[in-house]
Amino acid sequence: MTTKAFVIGHPIHHSRSPLIHGTWLEQHGIDGSYEAIDVAPADLPAFFERLRSGEFAGGNVTIPHKETVFALCDSVDPLARTIGAVNTLTVRDGKVHGTNTDYLGFLGNLDAGAPGWSDGPHDAMIIGAGGAARAVLMALRRRDGGRVHVLNRTLANAQALVEEIDGPFEAHGFDAFPELAAHTGLVVNTSSIGMHGSRFDWLDMTLLPKTALVTDIVYTPLITPLLAEAQTHGLRTVDGLGMLLHQAVPGFEAWFGVRPSVTPELRARVVASLDH
Ligand code: NAP
Repeated sequence: MTTKAFVIGHPIHHSRSPLIHGTWLEQHGIDGSYEAIDVAPADLPAFFERLRSGEFAGGNVTIPHKETVFALCDSVDPLARTIGAVNTLTVRDGKVHGTNTDYLGFLGNLDAGAPGWSDGPHDAMIIGAGGAARAVLMALRRRDGGRVHVLNRTLANAQALVEEIDGPFEAHGFDAFPELAAHTGLVVNTSSIGMHGSRFDWLDMTLLPKTALVTDIVYTPLITPLLAEAQTHGLRTVDGLGMLLHQAVPGFEAWFGVRPSVTPELRARVVASLDH
């Protein structure tokens, strides 16, 4: 019997997930499908009933459902609760379980793109304090020994985030960058700055150590103004597309029973699709 999986969102036509999972299904010769399904918020409860009937092995959840599915899942793992978002569902024995794989995507991307990035204690800086920043904070809590400074346009949002998640975390406004920069080994942009040509006008790269790693989770464009500037200054960079690719691995393994790899061919296919 064909094993079926999905991504739900509203709208959903922009999603790269069918391309990613479709590539893996093809590579592994699996009798399976992965389809994008547009589910309007009002139709979400009915979709969950469809899930409980066993039609699908599971699937992904994207905007605007990542928070609302909490109330509909039969169980949600504690990590997804702390992150505040579910992006992956698995269905077993008529029950729907929710989890979040974004933090694994973030770690997998840096491990592949900058091996050894988490060796030795150093401070990290997260720019932005929204949903994605939560997943990155959880990832750094697991792997990074140093302090994590969260810099955000709205200081109160950064403060709320670091109060909610336990760890060596501090909240700041953007004006704290100059005094923190010299001790920063990792800069992660999780804010939407970088999309549509927007850029940081306050981030002076020359203040960062030459060994600093700069990564952006925005991947449209692939080389954001932040990454381009870091490269100009000779700093190591990792783009955000790998996070999307690596977050898909655990879901595919759970639904189809094979652990897939993030290969250069897969990446090339998805990069080609970004131009459309
Ligand atoms: P979100 O919850 O809406 O948070 C947006 C963040 O950006 C907030 O901290 C907000 O600051 C800040 N921001 C927005 N506009 C700004 C501006 N003009 N100047 C300064 N700060 C600004 O969004 P999210 O879910 O965290 O997603 C953020 C980005 O990450 C999106 O571009 C998303 O596509 C990307 N993302 C990528 C991946 C991946 O797999 N690579 C995964 C998840 C998300 P305030 O608090 O001041 O409003």
